[in-house]
Amino acid sequence: MVPGCPRYAFQGPTVGAILTRMLSVVTSFWVHGVEGQLVRVEVSVRTGLPIFTVVGLPAGAVREGKERVFAALAQSGMALPPRRVTVNLAPADLPKSGSGLDLPVAVALLAALGHVPAAAVERCGFVGELGLDASIRPVRGAIALAMCCRAHGGGRLYVPWDNAAEAAAVPGVEVVGIRTVEEVVGLLRGEIDPAPPPTPPTVRAAGNGRDLGDIRGQELAKRALLIAAAGGHSLLMSGPPGAGKTMLAARLAGILPPLAEAESLEVTRVHSVAGLTSREEPVKFERPFRAPHHTISAGGLVGGGNPPRPGEISLAHLGVLFLDELAEFKRSVLDTLRQPMESGRVSVSRVGHTVNFPARFQFVGAMNPCPCGQGGDDCTCSDRDIARYRSRISGPLLDRIDLQLAIGQVGWGDLNSPGRPDGLDSAAAQKRVVRARRRQRQRFGTDDGVNALMPARRVISDCTLTETGEKLLESAVATYGLSARAVHRTLRVALTIADLEDRSGLGEQEIAEALRLRVGVPTLRAATRAHLSAGAAVHDPATAPLFPATPTH
Ligand SMILES: [Zn+2]
Repeated sequence: MVPGCPRYAFQGPTVGAILTRMLSVVTSFWVHGVEGQLVRVEVSVRTGLPIFTVVGLPAGAVREGKERVFAALAQSGMALPPRRVTVNLAPADLPKSGSGLDLPVAVALLAALGHVPAAAVERCGFVGELGLDASIRPVRGAIALAMCCRAHGGGRLYVPWDNAAEAAAVPGVEVVGIRTVEEVVGLLRGEIDPAPPPTPPTVRAAGNGRDLGDIRGQELAKRALLIAAAGGHSLLMSGPPGAGKTMLAARLAGILPPLAEAESLEVTRVHSVAGLTSREEPVKFERPFRAPHHTISAGGLVGGGNPPRPGEISLAHLGVLFLDELAEFKRSVLDTLRQPMESGRVSVSRVGHTVNFPARFQFVGAMNPCPCGQGGDDCTCSDRDIARYRSRISGPLLDRIDLQLAIGQVGWGDLNSPGRPDGLDSAAAQKRVVRARRRQRQRFGTDDGVNALMPARRVISDCTLTETGEKLLESAVATYGLSARAVHRTLRVALTIADLEDRSGLGEQEIAEALRLRVGVPTLRAATRAHLSAGAAVHDPATAPLFPATPTH
């Protein structure tokens, strides 16, 4: 019972009123994938055997909803008369799921029976799950529903009290938070005033406490993180346990550009549909960092279930997906990543319909160099073991990872030092990333254009190589037998390096660094110990030879 909200003494309308007002229509919204969908809830009350039927493809929770509606109305003192009730959910082309249709069904019934004026429910939307005690409980995807309401012209949207702050983050919708059925009736009859509108959440959370400056040593890996963030490149780190791969990956989200307002709503929408928003944190202001365990199923990673729910790659949308122990994931699970990595979305098909989830994430993988984890001279694995271990990651997936580097243990000198005075902290790195992204926005003419997603034909037309740069790339192609795709990826990374330094034209320096971050440490492709120990020597980008085996320049 809401304080100040009177309990209504319903005498029930007269038979005449029931005969004249037998049909009513109420607008509502439900979630399909991450999109809100408009549904018109039509209720017809007729004389006849007392049967309650729901048609229009109700699924799961919607079908069960009629029991909750019955109980909640009886609890509020508005028991249904013994009549034949038909509820139609239009349009009837998609199976409707979720519990948010309880409230609109109840309101349509009340309007059909004359308990609330029909004019009061026009130009309003209703969403909410009913409890048996007539309370109104929160639903998933409130922000998606509010966005759909706005797309259909806005107006007033009645939502559960616990969802009000989240829905209010969408401008152009008048959100009314409600707690009980009695409160809704009072509002619709004009007997009580709506509670003050919830303030849209605007306070930004203060960082996640993970700073790039906290990491000692690992200068090459930090540089790779900066490049990955600047150009949207995927990254794979190979190194022994304890080298700090997880620490490094966790700092990537913090150096990506801050989320724009529309992006923030987009991230919130996916999390809300997955049930990961709360009254305390209704809107996500930070880029997500998702690190699922290697035992995850394909459905858990890319989305699944019925109705389909977003998987980890969609929860990482506009943020970072980190897969630690990459070689421990099932190969079939990893291969589901290939298509979304290129297209930025994933489709989940169910009988009769397909759901699309957004999945524009930045991929970071980490793995041990070999099954024993030590690599180099301490390794006790046979060549065949190492080859089998690495082959768990398919070639096509590796091909899609722009930056691949081997990292070693942090030396005592680095651990013991107070940190390099020129060391990069997250704030400084983010500033450089934002500047590099601005150059890419100008290049592509879109807000979300990044070098990593540059089409192949543009790579050739847009990358201007200097003479020395071209010579170096040519010798790399000869030495490593780089495929056309590998050359394109190298050029994209080189372009990001140039963007970071505010340079145009790709010279020897940019090409050399891009090659070093991809093929300079060929540990992942060629599974031999010789390469591993060569990799261990390539830790300082400034001094390491580019081609340790066959110097060509
Ligand atoms: Zn080993």
